[in-house]
Amino acid sequence: KRVADRYLKREVLGEGTYGVVFKAIDTKTGNIVAIKKIRLGKYKEGVNVTALREIKLLKELRDPNIIELIDAFPYKGNLHLVFEFMETDLEAVIRDRNIVLSPADTKSYIQMMLKGLAFCHKKWVLHRDMKPNNLLIGADGQLKLADFGLARIFGSPERNFTHQVFARWYRAPELLFGTKQYGSAVDIWAAGCIYAELLLRRPFLQGSSDIDQLGKIFAAFGTPKSSQWPDMVYLPDYVEYQFVSAPPLRSLFPMASDDALDLLSKMFTYDPKARITAQQALEHRYFSSVPAPTKPSQLPRPP
Ligand code: ADP
Repeated sequence: KRVADRYLKREVLGEGTYGVVFKAIDTKTGNIVAIKKIRLGKYKEGVNVTALREIKLLKELRDPNIIELIDAFPYKGNLHLVFEFMETDLEAVIRDRNIVLSPADTKSYIQMMLKGLAFCHKKWVLHRDMKPNNLLIGADGQLKLADFGLARIFGSPERNFTHQVFARWYRAPELLFGTKQYGSAVDIWAAGCIYAELLLRRPFLQGSSDIDQLGKIFAAFGTPKSSQWPDMVYLPDYVEYQFVSAPPLRSLFPMASDDALDLLSKMFTYDPKARITAQQALEHRYFSSVPAPTKPSQLPRPP
């Protein structure tokens, strides 16, 4: 079956936040692609115009560590986004018990993730929904960030309960306190959570509600003092938490190197204004010290 005369539809790959994703062949290039069908639902026409305008900007966002948006068009009442096809994702790598990740492998994944983030942040585009299953891995081992900018265009995925559960674990404290003026620092917090998850091989801060999520964060890093994060007390949903002090970070990540822990702690800085940026993180000594990051083609991947 053909979609918009150009794509030959194949099997369904899965159901995502915004709708169903299917595999297809791009008859123009012969490449395999993944097409995300987005239900326009209630808003329809209105969103069509603004969404398509914003999506045009995303098409220009080209980087080796960002999933390429090849095409976007409305078809039979749904918006179709065509992306390059990717073999697997970081969640599958983390969960696969048969895969051993060396410190060099972890460094390679973190570096690719930060490169993609740095590129988008430089262009003032935020991700806002970073999680391991949004970090796709190609046949060549390259890690690429998926769904960049979609949260802003289509609204945050929280509307969907099942998706919220997982997304919560990667939410920055300023979002949990209801900030409306968040910036690229929210993606860095999430990237820190993903980094921690690669080290632990399980999600790091698994809150069961927004309140519990903050509780888990504070148990790990200590309740923030207003000297550490002066703007905190003015956030819309700010509530005082009982003071707990932070255990040494080393006790949470016994296997990590000192350089790794130093970078991690800078990604988990409470004050978003003081949190390390993606570009600064890439310049951290963790990336220039031994071991060198594994070449993407040599990274372990699920069968
Ligand atoms: P979510 O909203 O939960 O992040 P997505 O909408 O991104 O999910 O994806 C739904 C399913 O489609 C997932 O199983 C994902 O692995 C698959 N998928 C998404 N994008 C691609 C792609 N570019 N290549 C291959 N599979 C993809």
